[in-house]
Amino acid sequence: MLIAHLPSGYVLGSLARGPGRQGQDAMVAAMVGSVVPDIDMLYFHFVDGGHTHHHDYITHWPLFWLATGLTSLVVGRLLGWPNLPAIGLFFAGAMLHMLLDTVASPIMWLVPFDRHAFELVTVPAAYGNWVVSFMLHWTFGLEILICAWALWLALRQLSRRTAAPQNGT
Ligand SMILES: [Zn+2]
Repeated sequence: MLIAHLPSGYVLGSLARGPGRQGQDAMVAAMVGSVVPDIDMLYFHFVDGGHTHHHDYITHWPLFWLATGLTSLVVGRLLGWPNLPAIGLFFAGAMLHMLLDTVASPIMWLVPFDRHAFELVTVPAAYGNWVVSFMLHWTFGLEILICAWALWLALRQLSRRTAAPQNGT
């Protein structure tokens, strides 16, 4: 997935906080979680020299995010952390990232127990540049749809804020 991870986090945060309710921290958590697995691109480019596909790193292991998410929620609950919903949304965003990556690129859903990679659709290298191959494949339509959904939610939120009466006026 090329462009829709951050917008998907916005959609997740919007759906989680519901219409009109506040929850800026939840929105930020969902959006950061939706892109955080791709932080491994820094390692991929600057340390690994592009030798290993970044989907092989632990940051693209769904069971890693599931295990750390559940552990964080349990520990947070035991210690009485105040912002468990935001923590949950951060990890939900990371799992959403795994799901969306699976649409058109291989993700090893059961690693470290099984290294078989799953992908919904294989995008053929139809053009010399892999980015062009992805952008001209029909699966890119899903990305555009997610971006349009996020834009529509953002515009709706903006119009509600604009229409809401201001305090003290
Ligand atoms: Zn990714």
